[in-house]
Amino acid sequence: MQDWINALLRENIRALKPYSSARDEFSGGEGIFLDANENAFGSVHGIPPYHRYPDPQQRKLKEKIAQLENVSSEQIFVGNGSDEAIDLLMRAFCEPGQDSILIQPPTYGMYQVSAGIQDVKIIQVPLLENLQSDLGGIREAIQAHTKMIFFCSPNNPSGHIMDQKDIVEVLRYFSGLVVIDEAYVDFCPQYSLVSLLKEHHNLVILRTFSKAWGLAGLRLGLAFAHEDIIKIYNRIKPPYNINSASQEIAFKALEQAPRKQEFVQKIIQERHYLEKNLARIPSILHIYPSETNYLLLKVANAHHIYQYLINHQIIVRKRANLPVCGDCIRITVGTRSENESLIGALHTYKMP
Ligand SMILES: *Cc1c(COP(=O)(O)O)cnc(C)c1O
Repeated sequence: MQDWINALLRENIRALKPYSSARDEFSGGEGIFLDANENAFGSVHGIPPYHRYPDPQQRKLKEKIAQLENVSSEQIFVGNGSDEAIDLLMRAFCEPGQDSILIQPPTYGMYQVSAGIQDVKIIQVPLLENLQSDLGGIREAIQAHTKMIFFCSPNNPSGHIMDQKDIVEVLRYFSGLVVIDEAYVDFCPQYSLVSLLKEHHNLVILRTFSKAWGLAGLRLGLAFAHEDIIKIYNRIKPPYNINSASQEIAFKALEQAPRKQEFVQKIIQERHYLEKNLARIPSILHIYPSETNYLLLKVANAHHIYQYLINHQIIVRKRANLPVCGDCIRITVGTRSENESLIGALHTYKMP
């Protein structure tokens, strides 16, 4: 393990001897497997492979991802949702009660929750009026014990892209980890910063199967990073964190990657339709430009419009009092008929 990563790691993780599972110790192909206390006769429902533990390293799945994403298998961590990828980063690198992370609100809520669970301090440097990073503010706010800086691009909940120049600038001088959450980059692949992995060993890129891939129920997220960071993930993750069914279903999805592209095109088309129609509704004060499968709408009273929509059986995300953005609701792009219902309901909405 290289020095730079040892300097960043929590002390106890540096010393941790990982659990070695039966399937870690022998990973050859054929054999008589009497090592893991599985039921050798099969499973109760008779569906073949599930009486065996899954591959703890998800090798087949990672090879497929590596081919598609132009990274190597050693640069991939597969997690039980990106939530697991975020949580394990906190636990590996942040000393509770001492270390801090830096986030840029308004942004995704899980960074703060994961840090909070681990008693990691949260430094907030809100985005500027133009929704880009406050570079001066970030530089000033970083402390000796700041271990990670999060960028969410496209950003949730605003939907816009964070400026690549700004991220690169932070990567240049910050010696902790820079985490870029690309959960929505499938909707705008031209903005992915995966290519930066070649130059920056302290970069972590998060992806998910929950959005464009349409597999939110499966719970699969990815982290792409330098192989030393992936080794840390592998050292502390639960040995069998991705079950056999998820590994197989994700593999099948990856074999049909062009289908994802069709979904993306359809969703973007619907987003344009929504934008065009929502722009005509007086109670919507502003529609934030989006590169994603959702739109952030500035409204006069987020609570009121949220409740009104609930009364019409339409559930959106209430984002009241966001820093910089103010009172907002976030709506996911639906099917044409769902979008028409939303537009119809909003047309008859009366501001309080
Ligand atoms: C939805 C989302 C995720 C995905 O989380 P999963 O745990 O993979 O479902 C990650 N980051 C952001 C910003 C998101 O909006």
